[in-house]
Amino acid sequence: MRGPVPIPGIKIGASRHQVCHKAKDKDMAKIDLPKERKENWKEAMLEKMAEVLEKYRSVRLFLDICVKCEACADKCQFFLGTGDPKNMPVARADLFRKVYKRYFTLGGKIWGRANEAEELNETVLQEWIIYFYQCSECRRCSVFCPYGIDTAEITMAAREIMAAVGVATKYVTEVVAKVYDTGNNLGIWPAAWKDNCAFLEQDLKDTEGLDIKFPVDAVGAEVLLIPPSADNFVNTDTMIGYAKMFHAAGISWTTSTYCNEGGNFGLFLNYANLKKANNRIIEAARQLKVKKIYWGE
Ligand code: SF4
Ligand code: SF4
Repeated sequence: MRGPVPIPGIKIGASRHQVCHKAKDKDMAKIDLPKERKENWKEAMLEKMAEVLEKYRSVRLFLDICVKCEACADKCQFFLGTGDPKNMPVARADLFRKVYKRYFTLGGKIWGRANEAEELNETVLQEWIIYFYQCSECRRCSVFCPYGIDTAEITMAAREIMAAVGVATKYVTEVVAKVYDTGNNLGIWPAAWKDNCAFLEQDLKDTEGLDIKFPVDAVGAEVLLIPPSADNFVNTDTMIGYAKMFHAAGISWTTSTYCNEGGNFGLFLNYANLKKANNRIIEAARQLKVKKIYWGE
């Protein structure tokens, strides 16, 4: 498409039916989250919200300073693609903001709806599930906000709060669980990772006559390469490119079967898993005693 993306007409509820599949019990257990929605989910969500507001001051700031200028309204691709007004960044953030106002601001506690505050109830939670999972956390909207309000951070906070009470989606939790099982998002087991590397070595020899190694779990290499796992399995030209580059530069390198994923899906779930998945990179570097980490993705 050339030129500006046309702004769609408002279609109320246009993407309301697009609800992500619920997370599977086995994945929730693997990533230390409740398998089912907690019985006291409302109290637990508010408790978590208090923790988030205390810990991540930017979230409270973003909730407080929005002036509803709507400069962000037509900047989200989910709105541009659907016309659903709840996919306008300002409206997405409002789903969080109205609960915040009701329980954490004086005006909301006293004046309720008159102050744009709302009780946390089943309907509100369902809207959180729908619309906070229709944000890709791309941060495009924040570029257009005169205050720099980052709706992605509000989305992350909302997902953190939902995850704490056992509400998460299949896709994201499945991918994070795979990282703990296999070291990567695609679920490539160590033996398959090594086999793919050996295959690429042979392929390079057969097609270009080059004798270049794809080292795996090599202790003492200078560089640990953390590529997106797809480079080992699908985008193999990129993997070949890394190997050629290291070879030409005379740098010793390796990948790790413990951690071979540069894309962290913890970002789309909750802070604890974001941190845990990132820590695996550091652990792999320590295990292999490398000097540097090169991180793809
Ligand atoms: S552009 Fe910023 S201040 Fe304006 S409505 Fe959007 S988030 Fe609020
Ligand atoms: S961060 Fe979320 S709300 Fe903002 S533009 Fe990207 S997808 Fe839309």
